[in-house]
Amino acid sequence: MEGLELLIDLHKHQNRQGPGSENETEKSISLAMLDKTKHLKIVDIGCGTGASTICLAKKLNAHITAVDFLPEFIDVLKTAARKEGLERQIAPLVCSMEDLPFTDEEYDVIWSEGAIYNMGFERGVKEWKRFLKTEGVLVVSEITWSTNNRPSELEEYWKSQYPEIDTASSKIKILEENGYKLKAYFLLPEYCWTENYYRPLQNTFDDFLKQNGSSNEAINIVSSEETEIGLYNKFKSYYSYGVYIAEKL
Ligand code: SAH
Repeated sequence: MEGLELLIDLHKHQNRQGPGSENETEKSISLAMLDKTKHLKIVDIGCGTGASTICLAKKLNAHITAVDFLPEFIDVLKTAARKEGLERQIAPLVCSMEDLPFTDEEYDVIWSEGAIYNMGFERGVKEWKRFLKTEGVLVVSEITWSTNNRPSELEEYWKSQYPEIDTASSKIKILEENGYKLKAYFLLPEYCWTENYYRPLQNTFDDFLKQNGSSNEAINIVSSEETEIGLYNKFKSYYSYGVYIAEKL
């Protein structure tokens, strides 16, 4: 297997492909003040294998378009939706978040957990806005510095991974400058990273290496995941994912 295929294979067996939790998704639903009785049209962008999609489908009276550009993740989501009896509520779509086929004002809610960084926060909130109805809600999580100063080792690592990493006040300003009104903001707690994302991933490293004959590519993938996890354990008080809940004006 090639590098990307290996990376997909490592992550597709996981419940989620980034930090998060069902509790925090529910908390976001309630902070967004979504009406559970009203029929809502939602798009979940960068849904991965669908942890948030399934939760939204269970908690709300909604039809959810679940978008990811990796068909391997969408296949896992389809199986999960079938198992939960939620196929009629979820329309899976293999598509890039940079080239969405929707019409203006099609959605009541745009949801995106741990994915907007792939096109950049600012570009994402600007380009996706036209798909939201007026007074529609954007719920988006984005890696965020929790303080204004941080050790240079951490800063250098994350700047190289994602140059747009910034503080919540900067992210909120971007929302305000682009026609959104902030409704709520919170930082994901530690267990969303450790128990729900890093630990289950780490538990698969040995098998992943064995299955791939400890190829250099497999070793490199595990070692870059371990670098990220090591930095998290050392510096977790300086950053997390921020969840931004904003209304389109
Ligand atoms: N929301 C999921 C997955 C987060 S990981 C969760 O919280 O578990 C980020 C996801 O974005 C991955 O599933 C990845 O395949 C997807 N992705 C990356 N670039 C993308 C793009 N250009 N268009 C659509 N999806 C993309």
